[in-house]
Order: sequence, then C-alpha cells, then structure tokens
Amino acid sequence: MKIHEYQAKQLFREYRIPVPEGTVAFSVEQAETAARDLGRFPVVVKSQIHAGGRGKGGGVKLAADMNEVSTISDQMLGMTLVTHQTGPEGRKVNRLLIEAGQDIAKEFYLSLLVDRATASIMIMASRDGGMDIETVAADTPERIIRINVELGTGIQAYHIRQAGFGLGLSGAALKSFSGLLSNLYRFFVANDCSLVEINPLILTSDDQVLALDAKVDFDSNALYRHKDILDLRDLDEEDPLEVDASGYNLNYINLDGNVGNIVNGAGLAMATMDIIKNAGASPANFMDVGGGASAEQVENALRIILADEKVKAVLINIFGGILRCDIFAEGVVAAAKKIGIIVPVVVRMEGTNVEEGKKILADADLNLTSAGNLLDAAEKIAAAVG
Ligand code: GDP
Ligand code: MN
Repeated sequence: MKIHEYQAKQLFREYRIPVPEGTVAFSVEQAETAARDLGRFPVVVKSQIHAGGRGKGGGVKLAADMNEVSTISDQMLGMTLVTHQTGPEGRKVNRLLIEAGQDIAKEFYLSLLVDRATASIMIMASRDGGMDIETVAADTPERIIRINVELGTGIQAYHIRQAGFGLGLSGAALKSFSGLLSNLYRFFVANDCSLVEINPLILTSDDQVLALDAKVDFDSNALYRHKDILDLRDLDEEDPLEVDASGYNLNYINLDGNVGNIVNGAGLAMATMDIIKNAGASPANFMDVGGGASAEQVENALRIILADEKVKAVLINIFGGILRCDIFAEGVVAAAKKIGIIVPVVVRMEGTNVEEGKKILADADLNLTSAGNLLDAAEKIAAAVG
C-alpha cells in the first residue's frame, strides 16, 4: 500500500528523519494559510498523487510570493496530472503539500528495499539524485551503490560509512547523513515497508541532509498489525475495481490484456495466466477467489471482471478440492443469471464432483463453453478473443 508524500514525511518526523517544514492543503485557502504559517518565501507547492515524475509533469512548482501560492494552488487542485508513472489517463490532484523552499547544494538518491534475491534489505544510493534512477541504472549502473543489510544484525556503522563515503560525504554532512540513514532503516523495519525512496535527498548549504521527496510502499500482508498506517490509505488513488474486490476478500489485480480469468488458488492463477499467454492471448487480470470460495465470492468475482471494459472473454478455471465443483457450478449459474453474461465464458473444472458440476453448467442453458482440459480451455479462449 502506498501513501502520499506528506503522510510519509509526517511519519519521517516521528522517526527523526529530517524533512522540510510543510503542511497538507485541500483548498487554495488552506494553501495560503499554510504558506503564511511558513513565514518565508519561496514556498514549494507539490501535487500529492501516488506516482512519481511530478516535477517534470508540472506537479511541483516554486512560488515566490503569496500571489503565486494562490495562482499555482488554484491551477493544481483539480487538475489531471500526467507523468511517466501515471499512464496517459493521469491522476486527479486533490491534495497539495505546501513546503518551505530549500537551498539545495547537492541532490542524491537514497532508497531502502526488500531484496528478494538475497532475502535482505538493500540500501541503494547514488550521487545522481533528482533524475530518473531507472536511466542511471540503465546507462551508468556503476554510479549506484548497493549495500545489503542482513535482518539478523541490522544496520551497522560500516554499512552507513560505506553509503556515506560512496556519496562523497564527510564531516558534518556525513554525521547528518548517518543519523538519517540509521533512522530510515529503523522506520523501514518497524513498519514492514517494501520500499522507501528518497529522490532527491539533498545536502543544504549548511551541510545538513534532508529528505526532499518521500515515496513509501508498505507490505500489504503486514498491514493488519499497523492500523495507524491503514488509516492513511487513500482509496481515490487506487484502482476502483481492486478496491471493490478487496471488500470481498478476493485477490484481484487489474492487468492490461483482454481475457478475464477467475481461478481458485494463487498458484493455479499464475499457471492459468501463463497458459493464456502461451495460447497467444493476454490476461486482463489476476483473480484468485481462494481455495474455499463461497457462491457470493464467485458472483462478485464475475461481476467485477465483467465491469472491466477491456474484458472480451472470461476463462474460469477451478480445481474442486475444498470447494466442490457442483457447489461452484451452482454459484456460477446463479451469478451468470443475475449479472448477465455479455462475453463468451469458457469453464474448465476438475476435481471433486466434477461430473455433477458439468451437468449443472450444461443444463443451465447459458452461454458457457466447457473445456476438457487446461490446454483446450486456453485454445478456446484464444479463439474467442481472436
Ligand atoms: P517527483 O518529481 O514526483 O519525484 O517530485 P520531487 O519531490 O522529487 O520534486 C521534483 C523536483 O522539484 C525535485 O527534484 C527538485 O529539483 C524540485 N524541488 C522540490 N522541492 C524543492 C525546493 O525546496 N527547492 C528547490 N529549489 N527545488 C525543489
Ligand atoms: Mn522525486
């Protein structure tokens, strides 16, 4: 789960990670009050959306006086901000961060992330801050410092020195950086983050380091033990169909293709997506209704997938174990009658009571095609979408 920059910076303050002074604003009036409270100019007006690249997209602007704060805020609030991370449809700006402008001597890149390959936490740092780190990684990978921290030992002074020296810091700047990085690590672990990215981390003219930007992503599977963080969720920033699905305990992720699929079990769902791809089609989603899905879940799964305009056909692939095929088939028939099937649906079932299940589907007189096996299902679905 992602949060906004202003929320991340508030959490940073609690962990004594230095950030510029600033306040969130939901209206021009609030922006003006926030700027007045800062008491000096320039002020930075920053669009708050869950995507990066805001600077280049016109979502971050410096205001030299109160007049500019008003004009810029008025123009940003309600605008659709398009960046390389939002996709062409962009994101609507509903909140601004009004922040004290900083005197930037240098810009760095700093992030912490879960490195799956080594099952440890990786520190990534670079002197090439402020720009696209993807470009740096592609063109000049040697300019990115990577340091692995074992969870067992945690962050040590030598990790911090390696990062600080790598960034060319010394004296007061190194001291300031050391405090920031060790607190950032503490924040990362305590809150079950999957990514914390500060780009740019800046060095001010008086040798202090400061997080000028803050992108934080939390491991959703750990959020049950961070109720305070869950409260920071902004549903406006999430895919409406994914929000809908999460209300029914469905593991649903919206993808780019046109074949909707409903599967019970995450492993089977991955295999199903592979086989759809293999047959020359492309999955529109990942949808795991779980091993013991109820009729209600099946109905909602079908409703959500059919609400997706990209979907030109649906593949239902079920292994009847905990969920018996006949119970599942009844669920599909009930759902299909209620919602109305508007695209071809191919069903492949295997497992407990499969014959009874197939009979229920065949007798239902709906636009459902039965598949003999997974390969057959994939070929039928590929044919259905052309
Ligand atoms: P992003 O583009 O979404 O990553 O948003 P950032 O928070 O990184 O802001 C984009 C850019 O705005 C930064 O790289 C800075 O160059 C610039 N910026 C942000 N705050 C300040 C500031 O206080 N002073 C100055 N001079 N530039 C700033
Ligand atoms: Mn940034």
